[in-house]
Amino acid sequence: MRDLVKRFPVERGLLRKVVAEVRAVDGVSFTIAAGETLCLVGESGCGKSTVGRLILRLIEPTSGQVLLNGVDITALDREAVRLHRRHIQMVFQDPYASLNPRLTAGQIVTEPLENYGDMGAREREERTVALLERVGLRAEAMRKFPFEFSGGQRQRLGIARALALRPDVIVADEPVSALDVSVQAQVLNLLMDLQEEYGLAYLFISHDLGVVEHISRRVAVMYLGRIVEIADRDALFAGPLHPYAEALLAAAPVPAPRARRDRLVIEGEVPSPLNPPSGCSFHPRCPYAVARCRSEEPMLREVTPGRFVACHLRGPQAAA
Ligand code: SF4
Repeated sequence: MRDLVKRFPVERGLLRKVVAEVRAVDGVSFTIAAGETLCLVGESGCGKSTVGRLILRLIEPTSGQVLLNGVDITALDREAVRLHRRHIQMVFQDPYASLNPRLTAGQIVTEPLENYGDMGAREREERTVALLERVGLRAEAMRKFPFEFSGGQRQRLGIARALALRPDVIVADEPVSALDVSVQAQVLNLLMDLQEEYGLAYLFISHDLGVVEHISRRVAVMYLGRIVEIADRDALFAGPLHPYAEALLAAAPVPAPRARRDRLVIEGEVPSPLNPPSGCSFHPRCPYAVARCRSEEPMLREVTPGRFVACHLRGPQAAA
């Protein structure tokens, strides 16, 4: 992602006059390497799911670039996007809502192969059986409908469908948050095994820091449409630098924290993205805010190699 921006117009009246804009994603940049998992975390409404949809171009960005293997997806025409989408697939939070209830599991997994591939019927069927078995479903599942599966099995089916075209990137938007805790671990371990096997890059969107600590290699923390800290998982969990990341980790019910976490409590509501605060958008809730925070927006800057923070007090100048 390079400086990705998404603004949603707010329209009023019969003439649908644009009276305001919601700044859902406001200049987001990051990279993900092959075989790597980057987790995007933040409170609901921070823009993380919008980033996922922008990557697949399910919605159009206002500006910015999404580059995959050197190709800017935002510059492609509709047919080229359709062809390119085979390289980026999505696993959704609610597998039941994302699977066509009128199709059998076999048809659900075969559909992308029919739409994009040039395989014969027999080869498609063999690939479908292999995919179902790879995600832990039996070949007999081919003839079942989504309602006949448990929640965990449905998510396995969603993963098999996402894998059918051998994508490079999978965007997983809260893929285990609707599942029982016991099933969550099985699905996470399956995702990790598949990543190793196929060299998949994951953008894993989650509000659950226990899950994030389990699956991520790097973590990007979002607040009000912006990334405020990107760091290696171990560095972030051992000592977050941005005050918002600090508060988020302090509030997380992680059963075995790696380091003692002082309970930094942030008060107040997340401000409206319709009218974000001046300066640092976190300043109305930040216990460390100084006068400069109210007037000057902090940029995301590298503090140590690979670690970026957007904060006047915790940035590279402060560290120097
Ligand atoms: Fe807090 Fe200021 Fe840093 Fe923003 S820039 S997080 S208000 S200290």
